Amino acid sequence: MSTTHKPQTKTNRAKRSSPLVQEDMQKYQLAVEHASDHIVITDPDGIILYANRAVEKITGFPPSEIMGTKAGVKWGKRMKHEVYTHLWNEIKHHRRHFHGEFQNVRKNGEMYTAEAKIAPVLDAQGEVLYFVGIERDVTQLREVDRMKTEFISLASHQLRTPLSAMKWFLEMLLDGDLGDLSTEQTNMLRNINASNERMIDLVNTLLDISRIESGRLVIDAVPTDITELVTGLRHELEPLMQAKNQTLTIAIADNLPQVTIDPRLIRQVYMNLLTNAVKYSAYSTTITVYVFVKEGMIISTVQDQGYGIDVSEREHIFEKFYRAKSAVKAEAEGSGLGLYLVKSIIETSGGTMWLESEPGQGSSFSFSLPIR
Ligand code: ADP
Repeated sequence: MSTTHKPQTKTNRAKRSSPLVQEDMQKYQLAVEHASDHIVITDPDGIILYANRAVEKITGFPPSEIMGTKAGVKWGKRMKHEVYTHLWNEIKHHRRHFHGEFQNVRKNGEMYTAEAKIAPVLDAQGEVLYFVGIERDVTQLREVDRMKTEFISLASHQLRTPLSAMKWFLEMLLDGDLGDLSTEQTNMLRNINASNERMIDLVNTLLDISRIESGRLVIDAVPTDITELVTGLRHELEPLMQAKNQTLTIAIADNLPQVTIDPRLIRQVYMNLLTNAVKYSAYSTTITVYVFVKEGMIISTVQDQGYGIDVSEREHIFEKFYRAKSAVKAEAEGSGLGLYLVKSIIETSGGTMWLESEPGQGSSFSFSLPIR
């Protein structure tokens, strides 16, 4: 097959490509103009150069009222000053993308929640040419989230009373208050009691989660000796670990300073990580807790020699209700709420949480806590 090529002169090329380029550009412009998310393009000082239709639909301000003004001034400025300083620092000085949520106000005075993503567009020298801000109105989504949290809180409160009553009556029966029991009866009651305890734990976890999500979790921070707190857990873990012939090693740095934390919540963090390490490790393995100071933070690591977590699942592991596929096979019992709660507690306490893991080699869950 042969084709004849005409010599490509500049004008020739321009004639052939420009209608196409123009058509493409029109397509992009139309797409941006009619997108359902609010899209704003600003100059390097944040002055609005372009706003698509959704901006007026969401904020209520027509283009004539916002062109040439600073982005966000008309519909934003409802949150603490530091929030906007941080945003500006990120995009302008560090030239990084920003992702966050804002409480904004429409022209008619109605408040709304916007999920915002702002990106700097840089020239070849790395200088900011424009900022592109995309916002989505998530008011209804957040309202549904709030209602779900409220429902969980209500349901858990209602479930706690009958579960506590059952616990009380079971203890009476097991103590022989109503007469002697046969071995079979005692064993059965112990099983019922263990199931009841699991339900109480789950309900308490749900309550803590609903408190965190609604911002009602009260952190009762007091100066705490972490060494004492961690070593005190050994006794509680013993029955679980003995059942799997596992060993617990505690390696705490000398002279650890006291930290101002909520001991009940942080204890819950260690217990969650340790019971997970027991659950997701084979018989006769060792679990090690390291605690040391680094750069003004107390770092704790719970390391196991267990099943590990596949790389594809690692990013989801702290999500609510998430359980790794291999874990579900190895350990049917579980809610997928523990790590979500642990991470929320750590972040509410001013720390961060991270994970290192290799399938078949074990996992290390670490968190930092500020020494205040
Ligand atoms: P649960 O243990 O009730 O499933 P968690 O939120 O505590 O819920 O843990 C979520 C998931 O993370 C678990 O289902 C499991 O897949 C994984 N996981 C947690 N800890 C470990 C660990 N030490 N080793 C391997 N996988 C773990």
